[in-house]
Amino acid sequence: MAAVIPKVSELVQKASEALLAEYGCEAETAVCAPGRVNIIGGHTDYNEGFVFPMALPLVTVVVGKKTSDGICCIKTLMPSADEPRMVEFQVPTAENPLKPSKPYWANYVKGVIQNFHGPVSGFVAVVNSSVPLGGGLSSSAALEVATYTFLEAITQDPAESLKAKALACQKAEHTFANMPCGIMDQFISTMGKAGNLLFIDCRTLESKCVALDDPDIVILITNSNVRHTLRGSEYPLRRIHCQKAAVMLGMKSLRDAAIEDLEKYKDCMSDTMYRHARHVITEIKRTQDCEVALVNKDYQNFGRMITECHYSLKNDFEVSCPELDELVALAVEVPGVFGSRLTGGGFGGCTITVVKQDSVDAVMSHIKEKYRGTPTFYVCQPSEGARILQL
Ligand code: ADP
Ligand code: MG
Repeated sequence: MAAVIPKVSELVQKASEALLAEYGCEAETAVCAPGRVNIIGGHTDYNEGFVFPMALPLVTVVVGKKTSDGICCIKTLMPSADEPRMVEFQVPTAENPLKPSKPYWANYVKGVIQNFHGPVSGFVAVVNSSVPLGGGLSSSAALEVATYTFLEAITQDPAESLKAKALACQKAEHTFANMPCGIMDQFISTMGKAGNLLFIDCRTLESKCVALDDPDIVILITNSNVRHTLRGSEYPLRRIHCQKAAVMLGMKSLRDAAIEDLEKYKDCMSDTMYRHARHVITEIKRTQDCEVALVNKDYQNFGRMITECHYSLKNDFEVSCPELDELVALAVEVPGVFGSRLTGGGFGGCTITVVKQDSVDAVMSHIKEKYRGTPTFYVCQPSEGARILQL
């Protein structure tokens, strides 16, 4: 019932065949970087809170070879990327830096080359991926981090730290894709460890692995396959509310606020602003408490807080939608489910469900039978971050 997740070796094989067909050469270097889901910590990143993502077994691979002609040639095998899917450009110099242009997909690659820490050589490469594009599982960070890892491998010049690497990839997304994202996606794609979530402090940029390696527990990702069109003001409005509430409380960000602080100012702000701020303050606390629950292997409480997070996103932060609410309500009806919530920005996209391995089929059947739409499922466990692959 769940989508079959292709093996990394199959993705590499297809990319190697395309490299031979298009560029007439054998692959010398292969790398991969994963997509991600955030388990808890919704809309806390821009409030200097905590996030708690895991790397997925869905990955982007880059396969290719260094060349000496100073030209970067790259092709993507993804049919949903915009055309043309094969591009060529000069290695950038101080006088001739790369700039964003069409096709859009290649901007993620160019942005990483432009933000690489050392000199870049020419190359030929093919990209292939099992991360759905634009599905909220961060195919963009997977492409950036895979590209960076590929450059490290062909130049034999690793970044000074994984943090520096992730920040360079984030900068690529800011400057070449015009997306002012937080640090989570690039951090987890770079630093993810199999059998672990990554607890990230978005204020200090410190992060640590926390084991979720019980073989009897899986994370079910359910794609609602809906995406509600937004007027465009939804996210900015929430950001502004959070900033204004922090200023009112005399704090740098809502990270510093306790719920009692907010209560004192309840009458000075609109009900909407109050609820938006309440979500963030309670969510920052829940994410910290979830980390403690996971360390204690207290899956009941871990899951309970994940479901609480969903209802806070729905009722207080108002970023859910009927389809996501239905998926969560259906999931938590099934015995063996610890918790479920929408993940990502909201208004569509995916839910995650923490569930016992031997109950996951029952959850999928139940959702398939009752959900108003057509869901897609991935059954996952926390997977490894970016790496160089043996050919
Ligand atoms: P998400 O990161 O949630 O998947 P984004 O809109 O941030 O969604 O990024 C999706 C875009 O990233 C795609 O439209 C495409 O331009 C680019 N992209 C991601 N992965 C690939 C890939 N493997 N090949 C080509 N382009 C890709
Ligand atoms: Mg993205």
